[in-house]
Amino acid sequence: MMRLISAFITALALLLAATARAGDNPEDSARRFVRGHASALGMDFPQATLGDASHSVHLGQHILSFPVFHRDLPVFFHSVTVQIDDEGRVLRVTAGTNGQIDGDTVHPCPDGEPARDFAHMLDLNPSMVLSGWLRDPEEGLIPAIRVDVHPFAREPYSIYLDARSLNPLETQPLMWTADPLGSVFEENPVTTPDVQTVSLQYLNEPKDILEGAYAHVGRCLDAETCPETEPTAFPDDDGNFIFNPHLGPYTLNDPFSEVNAYHNISRINHWARDTFGWEGLFQGNTWIHVKVGQAWYNAAFYGGNDEIAAYIVFGQDVIDFAYDADVAFHEFGHAINRSIRSHPWYLRDAYGMDVSPFGIEEGFADIWATTYSGDPVMNSYVLLTRTADNDLVCPDDLMSEGHMEARILAGFGWDVRQRIGAHAWNHIVYRTLHFLESNAVFDDFVEALAKSAEDLADEALAGPANSKGWPEMEAGFADIIMEEGATRGLFDEECLRRLVPLPDGTPRRIYGYGRDRTNKRNRPTGLQWKITGDDDTKAFRLYLAWRYPDPDEVEPGYRVHISRGHPVEVTWLNVDDVEEGEDEFTVTADLTVEASPEFVDFPVCGLAPLEEGENVYILISANTKERIFVVDVEAFYLTTQPPPLTDGGLPTVSVAAAGGGPSCNHLACGSTDGAQSLLAAISQILQ
Ligand SMILES: [Zn+2]
Repeated sequence: MMRLISAFITALALLLAATARAGDNPEDSARRFVRGHASALGMDFPQATLGDASHSVHLGQHILSFPVFHRDLPVFFHSVTVQIDDEGRVLRVTAGTNGQIDGDTVHPCPDGEPARDFAHMLDLNPSMVLSGWLRDPEEGLIPAIRVDVHPFAREPYSIYLDARSLNPLETQPLMWTADPLGSVFEENPVTTPDVQTVSLQYLNEPKDILEGAYAHVGRCLDAETCPETEPTAFPDDDGNFIFNPHLGPYTLNDPFSEVNAYHNISRINHWARDTFGWEGLFQGNTWIHVKVGQAWYNAAFYGGNDEIAAYIVFGQDVIDFAYDADVAFHEFGHAINRSIRSHPWYLRDAYGMDVSPFGIEEGFADIWATTYSGDPVMNSYVLLTRTADNDLVCPDDLMSEGHMEARILAGFGWDVRQRIGAHAWNHIVYRTLHFLESNAVFDDFVEALAKSAEDLADEALAGPANSKGWPEMEAGFADIIMEEGATRGLFDEECLRRLVPLPDGTPRRIYGYGRDRTNKRNRPTGLQWKITGDDDTKAFRLYLAWRYPDPDEVEPGYRVHISRGHPVEVTWLNVDDVEEGEDEFTVTADLTVEASPEFVDFPVCGLAPLEEGENVYILISANTKERIFVVDVEAFYLTTQPPPLTDGGLPTVSVAAAGGGPSCNHLACGSTDGAQSLLAAISQILQ
C-alpha cells in the first residue's frame, strides 16, 4: 500500500507542472484538467463522473472541489480539489476526503498524512471503486470505500478503506453482494443423493448468471454439435439458483446441471491457483468456458486453438455427466496438465502403438480428481466407474487405452498419497508436470515424481524461509514413490514393452482405434499378449469376441498376428506414403488371421507344437472405420492339437500362415465333421 501511495505522490508532482488553458472560466478549466488526468487521479474506472463543483476564492485563487460519483452513486467523501489562478494555471491538486461526514462527527485526516491522496488507490488497472459500509464489532457500521482489485491470474480481492481517514481497514476476497445459494449434489446422485445447498462463489456482479472468475457455464444451443451456449439458469426472486435435479435420461433443459457444473469447476480451478500458484489461462482468462447439454455419452476437456477457446463439455445422454463432481475434477485435471505440459497421444515402436503418454495424461487427471476429492472412487454415477483403490499392475492389466492404463497409475498415486499425505503428494505431482518429458512412459513418470519429491525435500530442509509451505516434506518420500512404482510393475521390462501375459482361462480386454480416429489409417493396437507354454501345453485356442460397438450394428474389423519365440514385429511406414484406409505399418508375424476371427487355433497346419517355456505373442490390429473398438480375448491351453473348426453354422476362420509356413485354412487342414464335433470340443475346453 505504501509503495502505491508514494507512486501517487510522484504522479501528483508531475500534475502540478501542468496548466489549464487560459481564458476559460475557472470551473471549466478545472473540470477539463481533471478529465485529462483522470488516470493519474485514479478515475479511469468506467462511469466515474464529477459532480457540481463548490467554488470558493481565497487569496486570489479559485478553489474548486468536485465530488466524485460512480454509477451515479457518490463515492463516499471522495473529492478532487483543484486550485487555479486567474490565468487558468493549475497550482495545486488534491484528491482526498472532505474530512467530514456530518455536523456531529468530524474525522479530519492527520496533518501531512499522505493517505489523503487516496485517489491513487483507485488507479489500479483494472479497478473499480464502490462505496460501502464495513461492520466493526465496536464501532458498528463504518463508512468505507471499497476498491475491487482484479490482479492478473490471481484471485480478485477487495480493499476496504475507512472513508473518513482513508486508512486501509482490511482486505477480503472479492465480495460485494452476498453469494447466491445454489442446489448441488455433494458428489453425485448415487453416493450423495440428498441435494445440498451451497454458496455459489466467485460469480461476477451482478451475480445473475453463472459466470464468474473461474467458470462461465452455458447450455448448448444445438445439442448435437454445440458450437455455442447461452446461460439458462437464472436466479429466483431471492437471487438464488435453486433447482431440482432431473435424473431421467436425455434431460437437455436442466438448469440444475449448470449450477452443479459451475460449482465444481469453480472450486477446483480456484483450489489449483490458491494451492500451487498455478497461472494457467484460457485465452487469457482465469475462467474456462463450460458447456452442458450436449447429447453425448461422455465428458471432455478441449485445449482450444486459434479459433476455438478452451472448454469443458458435460454430455447429457442416458445420464448427466455434469451431475458428477469427479467427472468435473477429472476434466479440469486435464486443464491443469495441458496448460503446463504437452505430449503426443501415442508413440510408435516395434511392438505396436504405445499409448503410455495417453495413459499418463489420464493418470494425472485421475490423480487430480482423487486427491482433490480425497476419495479414490471416481465416476460413481457414471457407468465407467473406476477406483484408485485397486491392485492393478503393469503389464497384466494393460488394455491399450489411456483411461484404462490410468487406473494403474492412479492406484499407484493413491497408495503414495496414503503414505505421505495429500499436501506433500499434491505439490509433488504439480511440480512433476513442469519437467516430465513429452515422450515419457511409465518408468519416466515414476522417476520424475521421485525427483520432484527429492527437490521439494531439499528445499524444505534448506530452512523454513525457503520451505514455501511444505515443511512436512521428507527426504524419504522419493523412496516411497519408487517403491510403490515397483510394486505396480512400472519399471518391469515387460511392462515397458507392453507384453501382457495371457494365462490359461484368464480373460483380457483390448481397445483399438479405427480409421475414424487414426487419420483414416489402420494401426496396430498398443500391446501384445504373451502365451508361455508349459510341460503339458502343446497348443492353444484363442477365443475372441468383438464387444464394442454392437456387432449386430457394425461390421467387426480386426486382424490377429501371431509369432512364436519373439514378439510380432511392427515396422511403421511414413504416413505421407499411406493412403486412406491402408495400413500405417507392416508386420512380421508367423501367422496373420484376417477377417475378425472368433476362434484361432495354434499351432495349426504345418507348424510344430508349442515347446515348454516357449512364448507365443499375439498382436491385434485395427481394420475398421469405427472410432474405437473393444475385443475380448481368452486363451485355453491345450494338451493336444485342437479339433478343427468348421463352417457348420458357426463362425469360420481362414488362416494364412506367414513366414514360410504352408498356406492353408481350417477347412483344408482337418476333417469337416461339422458343428457337433466343434461344440463338443469347445464345451470340453470350457469345463
Ligand atoms: Zn480424461
